[in-house]
Amino acid sequence: MLVKVLGCSGGIGGKDLRTTSLLVDHDILIDAGTGVGDLSIDALARIDHLFLTHSHLDHICCLPFMVDTVGEMRGGQALVVHTSQATQDSLRQHIFNWSIWPDFTAIPNREHPFLRFEVMEAGDTLELNGRRITALPALHTVPAVGYQLDSGRASLVFSGDTATNDEFWKTLNAIPQLRYLLIETAFSDAERKLAELSRHLCPTLLAAGLKQLRSRPEMFITHLKPSQAEQTMREIHALLGDLQPQMLRPDHCFNL
Ligand SMILES: [Zn+2]
Ligand SMILES: [Zn+2]
Repeated sequence: MLVKVLGCSGGIGGKDLRTTSLLVDHDILIDAGTGVGDLSIDALARIDHLFLTHSHLDHICCLPFMVDTVGEMRGGQALVVHTSQATQDSLRQHIFNWSIWPDFTAIPNREHPFLRFEVMEAGDTLELNGRRITALPALHTVPAVGYQLDSGRASLVFSGDTATNDEFWKTLNAIPQLRYLLIETAFSDAERKLAELSRHLCPTLLAAGLKQLRSRPEMFITHLKPSQAEQTMREIHALLGDLQPQMLRPDHCFNL
């Protein structure tokens, strides 16, 4: 199982800053932020499954373009979007509503659409050719999940967008071979109020949560606000230097 980072920033700007998306092997995406736009048309057409953490634009913005671009190239096979009922409802109401974008769950017809939703809630696991994907509890301003990717040999956990969340750490403690933790820290400590308001993490809140984690996975920080990225990483290193957290970067690959 190979996991490649397509985007991991809290914003855009140049080739280093793209919003959240992870490519798993050639056929699975986790979130569909602006990083997806770098994939070739052929690579886009090979994606069969998209797992969404939540409905926010920085995580879904390439989905409408993607399904429009490759829908006709997929030989009648729908792109399956796995997400919570709440996220699905939000996307149907606000994006695929014929006003912002066509309803691709009815194109070319409802029997064989380009796009199909499957409900997946926190705690649910789906196995795809030996790769187990489990939705994890997250806490955000809208219903949200993280994901555990498990190859059978090791696991990678991606937090998605989340505030301090005891359930999340409890779930991580039950994962036997947790090798990689990709966790958001959207704001620096100077913006702690904003982090709390928007239900994200800042370094102090991350450090407090990590006290609950009993394993020592390799740690990568995602979703940094571009204007605060260096400062936030300095604060994280001051608080958590012994865990050697690294800034996640596009094109980074994880082998599981
Ligand atoms: Zn969000
Ligand atoms: Zn986000």
